[in-house]
Amino acid sequence: MAIQKPRGTQDLLPSVLGNWYYIENTIRRLCKTYGFEEVRTPMFEETGLFLRGIGETTDIVQKEMYSFPTGDKKDQSYTLRPEGTASAVRAYLENKIYGQESITKWFYIGPMFRHDKPQAGRYRQFHQFGVELLGTQAPSADAECISLVLQLLRDLGLKDLNVEVNSVGCPTCRPAYREKLIAFFEPKKEELCELCQSRLYKNPLRILDCKEEKCQQLAVGVPELSDNLCEECQDHFHHVKEYLTAAGEKFTLNPRLVRGLDYYTKTAFEVQYTPLGSQSAVAGGGRYDGLVEELDGPHTPAVGFAMGMERLLLALEKQGLLPEQQQEDSVFVVALGEMAQKEAFRITNALRNAYVKAEMEGSGKSMKSQMKYANKINAKYVIIIGDNELAEGKVILKYMDTSEQETVSLAEITNRITELVKGN
Ligand code: AMP
Repeated sequence: MAIQKPRGTQDLLPSVLGNWYYIENTIRRLCKTYGFEEVRTPMFEETGLFLRGIGETTDIVQKEMYSFPTGDKKDQSYTLRPEGTASAVRAYLENKIYGQESITKWFYIGPMFRHDKPQAGRYRQFHQFGVELLGTQAPSADAECISLVLQLLRDLGLKDLNVEVNSVGCPTCRPAYREKLIAFFEPKKEELCELCQSRLYKNPLRILDCKEEKCQQLAVGVPELSDNLCEECQDHFHHVKEYLTAAGEKFTLNPRLVRGLDYYTKTAFEVQYTPLGSQSAVAGGGRYDGLVEELDGPHTPAVGFAMGMERLLLALEKQGLLPEQQQEDSVFVVALGEMAQKEAFRITNALRNAYVKAEMEGSGKSMKSQMKYANKINAKYVIIIGDNELAEGKVILKYMDTSEQETVSLAEITNRITELVKGN
């Protein structure tokens, strides 16, 4: 069998790329409004960055990374980036951005790679739009990120969205809560799903957001994180909620929301679009006050989120919110005869120099076949050049919508078409 694309990847063909441009343009415009600037980092990094940044006990690090030898140094490996935050923080540190500005507002759009079980809405190569706001512990920064994501989804026309927020604590209050969780689940260990059994001592918080029915049942009566936050975390969360309310954003409190990455502190949030079914999380994020230090940088509180572009597209498609692709007015130049072909090429070129979309067919096909092609590409104007017209210094201009035609001099045709197209 011919070679096929790797499992869990997609070819983005011209017919769908218009939708991507539409979303990306909306994102870039909105990020500019909020003062975020774009960064592009390598698609692979030293594996250690993700081990330290994302956390060794997370699903991503334990089973989803694509790692390979660097080829330069023995025992050193690279990993295709599974998410964007660790890379953004690495770039922030390596380029000493912290020394140049007190607050950094970055966004990125690009492919991420996770060796996960592919299904609808879950791919091995997928794209994320993400935002990182570094250098502030202000609760308004958390609310700013949530507002941005909600405005984006609203501007794209999505309704029925739900944003869940929670506080996952910090190194002051989480260790004690962790112990409480272990003590709570330990007697029920054997009844937990296999994955949660393995999480019990390594990352017991993750048991709280296990989707397995039996684990959810076992978690009934569990000590809630919200009752175990330190004063600082409580205070921060209180203000985040107040800022969201001030901005008129509706949100739901979900005390079980913990998210899959270790680096989150305080605020965690997730945007759900339930019609997507099991892969309903469109975006997720939170505060990560310890990550920059974890990666050997200065203490730098930060907050951010990442949105899955494929899931966003699926949601927009489901609600019929993707706009019709706009067709630019275009011209097709029909050439009949060898001399005419050269002249057609000259005209096509002159039109393109004026940024008018123009095509011709150079292999000497029949008039009928060339007109068929002009129809296929939806040309609005057709210029017909035969050797006879050429001898008289003229061409025929045909208006495809009305089928009317007129004779125009060779000297005039380029300007005439340019005026018609640009004048629209
Ligand atoms: P995460 O980096 O895991 O917090 O994910 C952030 C967002 O990326 C999720 O809400 C999804 O929309 C999207 N996402 C995560 N993993 C995948 C995947 N394997 N395929 C498609 N989208 C994904």
